[in-house]
Order: sequence, then structure tokens, then C-alpha cells
Amino acid sequence: MAYVISDACISCGSCAGGCPVGAIAEGDGKYEINADACIDCGSCAGECPVGAISQG
Ligand code: SF4
Ligand code: SF4
Repeated sequence: MAYVISDACISCGSCAGGCPVGAIAEGDGKYEINADACIDCGSCAGECPVGAISQG
């Protein structure tokens, strides 16, 4: 299962640059993870200041 970003996201952008496969992009009101590209490395979850990223 890919990682997912919840509505708690404050669009700080911290997670996007750290994704090794570029799977994170700004979406409508929050950042979003492309589930087809995510390789489940988990690094983005540790970057989020509000704990909005978890394994879906
Ligand atoms: Fe990118 Fe890894 Fe987060 Fe998936 S788990 S979105 S590959 S940083
Ligand atoms: Fe949203 Fe967290 Fe990513 Fe910041 S690090 S853009 S709050 S998911």
C-alpha cells in the first residue's frame, strides 16, 4: 500500500523534495501522493510536521 496524505496537511511542502521518486505534488488544498509512483520507502512520513502522512 502506498503512503497517503490526510486532510491535516498544511501544504508546507517539506515532504515533496525528499521523495526519491517524485511522487508527491501539491494538490487541491493539500499535497498528494501518486500511489502508482510511491515505492513505500516511508521517508516522507518522518518529514511532516503535523503527522499527516501515513501508510494507507
Ligand atoms: Fe515518496 Fe517514499 Fe513517501 Fe512514497 S513513502 S511518497 S516513495 S517519500
Ligand atoms: Fe503536507 Fe506534511 Fe507534506 Fe507539509 S510535510 S506538505 S504538511 S503532508
